[in-house]
Amino acid sequence: MKSAFQIGKIAGIPVRLHLTFLAIIPVIAYIFAITSVPFFGKLYGFGAVEPPLIRWIYSFVFAILLFVCVGLHELGHSMVAMRYGIKIKSITLYIIGGVAAMEEIPRKPSKEALMAVAGPAVSGAIGAICIILGSKLPIILNNGHPFTTLLWTLGIINIILMGFNLIPAFPMDGGRILRAGLATKMPYVAATRQAASIGKIFAVIMGLMGVIPITYGQPINPWLIIIASFIYIGASEEAKATSISVSLEGVQVKDIMSTDLQTVSPDMTVRELLNMMFHEKHRSYPVLQNNKLAGIVTLTDVQKVDKEIRDSTNVGDIMVKKIYVIEPHAGASEAMKKMVTMRIRRLPVMENGNLVGVLSRSDLLRAVELCSE
Ligand code: ZN
Repeated sequence: MKSAFQIGKIAGIPVRLHLTFLAIIPVIAYIFAITSVPFFGKLYGFGAVEPPLIRWIYSFVFAILLFVCVGLHELGHSMVAMRYGIKIKSITLYIIGGVAAMEEIPRKPSKEALMAVAGPAVSGAIGAICIILGSKLPIILNNGHPFTTLLWTLGIINIILMGFNLIPAFPMDGGRILRAGLATKMPYVAATRQAASIGKIFAVIMGLMGVIPITYGQPINPWLIIIASFIYIGASEEAKATSISVSLEGVQVKDIMSTDLQTVSPDMTVRELLNMMFHEKHRSYPVLQNNKLAGIVTLTDVQKVDKEIRDSTNVGDIMVKKIYVIEPHAGASEAMKKMVTMRIRRLPVMENGNLVGVLSRSDLLRAVELCSE
């Protein structure tokens, strides 16, 4: 199922919207349509704008602009990354904000810190420009003009966005800056672990702040709780992923792949394949036709075939023809990433069009265990 779709490209980077994002636009528009708070002599929120039609138009425009700003924040990270030669695969806007998917980041503290600072710097700059314009415009427009409110509100929210992202809670930008700082004094994995622990403490505090109002008979703050759990999970996952990719550093696919190749032919029947799986205890096989890799067949594919027709169905009919492969000289951590993102358990290893081995998740996990010893 496609959960995100592309809306365009900026600087060659595909920009995508996640479906959850579409749900949040009306929510944000609603929140700002019922909010109107004086802030340094100007109004924050469109609650006082009349008539209602104009109020809602401004609120929706604001919600969309807010996410444009979130996209620009991610673009800030991406631009610095690209200067360091890192490829950016995409920028996706989710319900909780933007995420730039990039290749492995070089583990160089100074580069990482600059990349992390770039996003909040963009938010801060947008915020400053909007606030300056918002405070100068009333000289031309009148003070209560909704356009002034739009600039003022957008300016304030961008400053909040900058401040929030700078909280040293890994995996937020501030946490990355913190890790870069720690990494100048200790090994990278240890620095990540420490930054992740600090991130988790912040997450717990944030979560408590979201729940505590209930003890005063006030409603809980769902946003704080959502963001807190996002930070907590993100911190644990990033710490794990970093220690895996660091321990697999320098390990190539060819070092850990299985080379005793068991392959099957597309003409084999499903019944014969099932017997083979039963005796050899493998869950999947590469399918070879005229010595060329034609597909891959797994136990799951076999289970989809009705028992009565297993004698008359061939492997060629049920195999998966869309196969992801990897080169023997590729890094083991790259293979790991490919398996996780494509949700596959085995990768055929190809060299010059020939199948030379198979790499499974268990091969990788064994390597991680051995390398971290
Ligand atoms: Zn950021």
